[in-house]
Amino acid sequence: MKPILLFVMTAGLAAAQAAPIEAFRIRAHTRFLASDLMEGRGVGGRGELLATEYLATQLALSRVKAAGDSGTYFQRVPLVGVETQPAARLSAAGKGNPAEFRWIEDFVGVTHRQQTQVSFDAEAVFVGHGITAPEYNWDDFKDADVRGKVVVLFTNEPQSEDPKLFGGRALTYYGRWTYKYEEARRRGAAAAIIIHTTPTAGYGWEVVRNSWGREDPQVALAAGAPALAFAGWLTREAGERLLAMSGHGVDALLKASEARGFRPIPLGVRLRGAIPSRVRKIETRNVLGIVPGSDPALGDEAVIFSAHWDHLGIGPAVNGDTIYNGAVDNATGCAILLEIARAWAALETKPKRSALFLFVTAEEGGLRGSEYYAANPVIPPGKTAVALNFDAFHPLGRTKDIVVSGSERTTFRPMVEEAARRFGFTIKPDPRPEQGSFYRSDHFSFAKVGIPAFSVHLGNEFLGKPPEYGAEVFKEFNAKHYHQPSDEFREDWDFAGLEQVARFGMLLGRMAATAARLPTWNPGDEFLAAREKSGVRP
Ligand SMILES: [Zn+2]
Repeated sequence: MKPILLFVMTAGLAAAQAAPIEAFRIRAHTRFLASDLMEGRGVGGRGELLATEYLATQLALSRVKAAGDSGTYFQRVPLVGVETQPAARLSAAGKGNPAEFRWIEDFVGVTHRQQTQVSFDAEAVFVGHGITAPEYNWDDFKDADVRGKVVVLFTNEPQSEDPKLFGGRALTYYGRWTYKYEEARRRGAAAAIIIHTTPTAGYGWEVVRNSWGREDPQVALAAGAPALAFAGWLTREAGERLLAMSGHGVDALLKASEARGFRPIPLGVRLRGAIPSRVRKIETRNVLGIVPGSDPALGDEAVIFSAHWDHLGIGPAVNGDTIYNGAVDNATGCAILLEIARAWAALETKPKRSALFLFVTAEEGGLRGSEYYAANPVIPPGKTAVALNFDAFHPLGRTKDIVVSGSERTTFRPMVEEAARRFGFTIKPDPRPEQGSFYRSDHFSFAKVGIPAFSVHLGNEFLGKPPEYGAEVFKEFNAKHYHQPSDEFREDWDFAGLEQVARFGMLLGRMAATAARLPTWNPGDEFLAAREKSGVRP
């Protein structure tokens, strides 16, 4: 049988089973959400009010019930914007001459205390990669007490080709800088400072500088909650100067921290910081709707569909355009979610479990809306079957392939494979696992509280196009339009591929909503402990 004929037959089978999800609706939602009227859907502005009202209105029109605060479609997300001021100072004092570090040139960072003036003066301890991972029998801290101290460390994880150690080539969460600050805070450190190197970070200092020299939207701290006085980065050169004060060097310490037997090294140096910040409240919101399940016993369990509604708002002009429309990123994902929600609510017989449609805020500011939902869930994580995230789709027609990276780490995978088979999709692996992209999208916030979660992406083999077409389009998008005002709606877009992916997502959701057992993470996975802690039914 010719491949094309096989595709048509399986697509027909899938269409017969799918709800009436239609491309023209996904197109219309995308067009509206990406229009200049939405002002780039920036967090905390007029664009937010318009976009979130639109989403709520569409859910209401589709008979999806409100699942937010006090009977509304909205979950208030109080954020605090913290912006370090250029007068920030950092210095190191040891036996010899003190070292001064310059803001932006030598160091960047932000306080997590959400106060306008924070200072610290504490002993510095080098802690390797700053990782405590019992499942890999790895502990960089050993018995060292770092309470009240400044931990100095590298990002990333010990390098190993062994898939049994930190996932081999793929980056695990232990390698991400966000983990480093969280672990330092759990251990009561006063501050945590990462020494940047291009190989350990995976990018140059300009990237660190550009993403840190601006306002950081943080989830509001509960009263009395512990927080780092400073979470920062030093350039490699500044790091060399700091380490040299105690007779050490970057390369030697990098090498030392590759070993399981590594022990923290007190640097015999005090790090002093004075960090002035502009601090302001940001009021923003997630949008939530629910279609209740039909089973009296399982109806309090749910499947989550998520997409971030925010983009970058209004910003620096590029070619005279200041509106960062975010058409691909992520009006497309919101449009897909609205269409799945409409189709789900129209099902004559509802699946056993409920379906929660969650449009999260402040993804671009560090997954804040999804993090807030995970801490304040409508359905407890232990009663959530899976979370399917939709972020950034190119409306360029149908693809033969699909990317569902992360699903292979869960017991839900056989259903994903069955659904892909029905749609004639080939499942493609994450093309760059060492970049740790799994940890950079909203599904990760759900995984951290144990929910089996992953993003659904189109592949890049477009039907009727030469094989290299998809890769070229993505390359061009990343270079010219990603996070730029030119990520705009185009009238010539073909939404057939988004219709397919929405139908595929709906089928995945229906499978999860009717499965006999709640899916979980596979044995040995870094999120399994969180799943078990969430009280999931075995
Ligand atoms: Zn996005």
